[in-house]
Amino acid sequence: MVKYKLAFLIIMILFGACKSQPESEARWCDQLPREANTQFKKSDYSNYWFEVYQVHDSIYAIYEPYQWQEVISYLIIGNEFALLFDTGNGIGNIKQVVNKITSLPIRVLNSHSHYDHVGGNADFDFIYGMDTEFTRLRKQGLPHERVAEEVSPEALCKPLPEGVVAEEHIIRPYEIDEYVTEGFTIDLGNRLVEVLSIPGHTPDAIGLWDKENGLLWTGDTFYQGAIWLFAKETNLADYKHSINRLAEISKSLNHLLPAHNIPLVEPTLLVELDDALTQIENNGVRGTDISDGRIRYTFDHFTILMNKN
Ligand SMILES: [Zn+2]
Repeated sequence: MVKYKLAFLIIMILFGACKSQPESEARWCDQLPREANTQFKKSDYSNYWFEVYQVHDSIYAIYEPYQWQEVISYLIIGNEFALLFDTGNGIGNIKQVVNKITSLPIRVLNSHSHYDHVGGNADFDFIYGMDTEFTRLRKQGLPHERVAEEVSPEALCKPLPEGVVAEEHIIRPYEIDEYVTEGFTIDLGNRLVEVLSIPGHTPDAIGLWDKENGLLWTGDTFYQGAIWLFAKETNLADYKHSINRLAEISKSLNHLLPAHNIPLVEPTLLVELDDALTQIENNGVRGTDISDGRIRYTFDHFTILMNKN
């Protein structure tokens, strides 16, 4: 999910491709901080690259606000070990942050295997992976060419952390220690979280459900912003089915914890999204044609980008 590329492209089109980069860069950075995030107190674990918020009892959001993905990873702490749900872009050192927050052993689970969520995986000793072909393929990492744009000037709001060299940025390969499937429950010691297979955004997209506390981590299946549903690994029919399932579950939830932009959002948004998808399917809403044969549907709390047919 590369949500800002499109905004950048539109800005470039609107203002002419000859506009200088600093102007478009300023436009993106001017949006920070997001108003919804001003409610969160920056914890002392924050550093140059990561903003860390304690969003719930023993749960930390580890946010990368200065890179256009605005990706959010989460540390969920139990009595016996802590689960790191996603490891971010792999630009800043997330392991250093996590080790400051807890001395417990860390296990990693990814919301899905896109590069902006697995970037720090290689630094950790124990990784759960979904038992899918896509997961196995992506653990090989990605070469610099595939992620060069993510460390380009237009992707950044401030210089890279000290010692990080743009030309050397890659997604390092990692090993998966245990494959899991739908319904797999992880007992962190006095805290249970359950894996929900919710394919669509990618074949290995998962939700993570803390039933006792009414929390659902949604990964890229839902976040407040522009939801991208046109990648070749995205399956729209699967996505609709997954959202329908989550909309049902949403009634029992207190909060959603998405993987981009804002770390704590209202569960009723899943019902809005489910309705939005139905409206699109029934031609009940008008979209706007954008570049590359894509269409944009705008709703109150999110937008949806799809291929035209
Ligand atoms: Zn993402």
